[in-house]
Amino acid sequence: MARDRISKSKGALQHSPSMASYEAARRGFSWTEARAALDGLPGGRGLNIAHEAVDRHAKGPQGRRSALCWLGKDGTRREVSYAELAALSSRFASALRGLGVGKGDTVFSLLGRVPALYVTALGALKNGSVFCPLFSAFGPEPIESRMAIGEARVLVTTPQLYARKVRGLRDRLPALEQVLLVGGDAAEAGCLGFEPVLEAASEDFEIPPTDPEDRALLHFTSGTTGRPKGALHVHEAVVVHAASARLALDLGPEDVYWCTADPGWVTGTSYGIVAPLAVGATLVVDEAEFEPERWYRILQDEKVRVWYTAPTAIRMLMKLGPNLPRRFDLSALRFAASVGEPLNPEAVVWGRDVLGRPFHDTWWQTETGGIMLANFAAADIKPGSMGRPLPGIEAAILRRRADGGVELVEEPGREGELALKAGWPSMFRGYLGEEARYRKCFAEGWYLSGDLARRDEEGYFWFLGRADDMIKSAGHLIGPFEVESALMEHPAVAEAGVIGKPDPVAMETVKAFVALKPGIRPDEALRREILGLARERLGPAVAPREIAFLDDLPKTRSGKIMRRLLKARELGLAEGDTSTLESGA
Ligand code: AMP
Repeated sequence: MARDRISKSKGALQHSPSMASYEAARRGFSWTEARAALDGLPGGRGLNIAHEAVDRHAKGPQGRRSALCWLGKDGTRREVSYAELAALSSRFASALRGLGVGKGDTVFSLLGRVPALYVTALGALKNGSVFCPLFSAFGPEPIESRMAIGEARVLVTTPQLYARKVRGLRDRLPALEQVLLVGGDAAEAGCLGFEPVLEAASEDFEIPPTDPEDRALLHFTSGTTGRPKGALHVHEAVVVHAASARLALDLGPEDVYWCTADPGWVTGTSYGIVAPLAVGATLVVDEAEFEPERWYRILQDEKVRVWYTAPTAIRMLMKLGPNLPRRFDLSALRFAASVGEPLNPEAVVWGRDVLGRPFHDTWWQTETGGIMLANFAAADIKPGSMGRPLPGIEAAILRRRADGGVELVEEPGREGELALKAGWPSMFRGYLGEEARYRKCFAEGWYLSGDLARRDEEGYFWFLGRADDMIKSAGHLIGPFEVESALMEHPAVAEAGVIGKPDPVAMETVKAFVALKPGIRPDEALRREILGLARERLGPAVAPREIAFLDDLPKTRSGKIMRRLLKARELGLAEGDTSTLESGA
């Protein structure tokens, strides 16, 4: 049985001495001081994420320390020092400048976890360009929609990914001027070789003046309706990245740190690139996919001290039992944290009993840009809770009123929407080109997260579910609309409705309900064909696992598919209010 509280572990806390007491840290915290702890561009020329992440550590003896420790799929191990990473990213910034790519232009990457990805991200930021990572397992459809909305000017990818997913789209992406291919000979028409371009570029690059409010990062997230949303973040976000790395992950310069998230998603960029480098830690990067034995070996061999991972992976490790980890020496590990989906209380306790460290759950979103709630090293963990607000962050439970306003739910234990007082440095500054959608996220000075939660008497927040139809599968937020649109491309499909079906490991898997056009009969071959098309268009991380054929999908009188009803029926739950249901469905 999971305990309801794990006392703070003495000695675990090393890098946030101000956090000796959570309450005192909150009282003593100010964003102005957090900002002052950063370096700033020389000569008072502003604040640039890449300067904070690499250049400030690159000079002097610190420059010889490893910034990246890269583990290739094939067993290669390559360490890249801070000085080398500074030089490589400066070369990429010079190359961008030479190609006429400037401030505010968007540089996309479609890469696995290879060193070029880190060079691209940091070089683009140095140049004042906006960096946007794409998950390499995406299919052409999500790639096209995101590059079109983001008006990609540059894409860095590999020859294989280019041939499979991008070449066919190029005509439809008029803003895309340059494609740089990593590895291979770039013999592709209209592409340049990443390595030759880097080689020819100068490593002397002065970061141009950067206003903290200049755009820096673009992260796409899905919506329940319409196109994916491009959440914009500015250079000032690094204030939260650095502060939360110290306060919530207890991370410092002598730590070896491993974030298992892919930089194609926000965690893998904010906490897989920026935050650990901003505090001068050594970042382990594993190119390979999840493999339990490999993961334990990495924790052991790299002497990982701080580990940030996700519930789906933890549950997969738990399923295999305690004997496998006991074959490894995990004694270097001093802090373990989790993010992305609800973390079962049992997983927190399992971490303590089997790995020697409990998992500290943290909560945040693409829009928040950084960790907002956490179980801190300096405080008791409540297994099953997402923890308490980061110093400097005010969180609350709210209810939306019919008039568009909100009211605070003061009473502990009552359900409402998790909200944050707007204005923290890493708060998104907009959804690209969608002002109305952005404004809808705020009411009376609060940012409304779309998550339902409650707060207990001690101020810990507990996740209850999403307020909308978004699906969380293996930590990836998936918008049903994007999946439904891809299914509709099949000529036999008349309508599609997509839900998250509970899954013991991945939390949810994507299940689609499909109504076929008149006269078409469902059979196994058709099911496989539609599933295959969806996989090809969307990529395996987003495509449905299951399809069920229905004669008709339940719809409101205004014609909207009632995903909630599909879900209730799937789970055998009460159907709730069906007064708007179109008759007959
Ligand atoms: P994303 O924007 O893709 O990072 O997804 C953010 C969403 O993931 C949140 O709105 C939550 O629904 C979910 N999430 C993130 N962290 C947690 C957590 N610790 N517990 C429960 N859900 C979480």
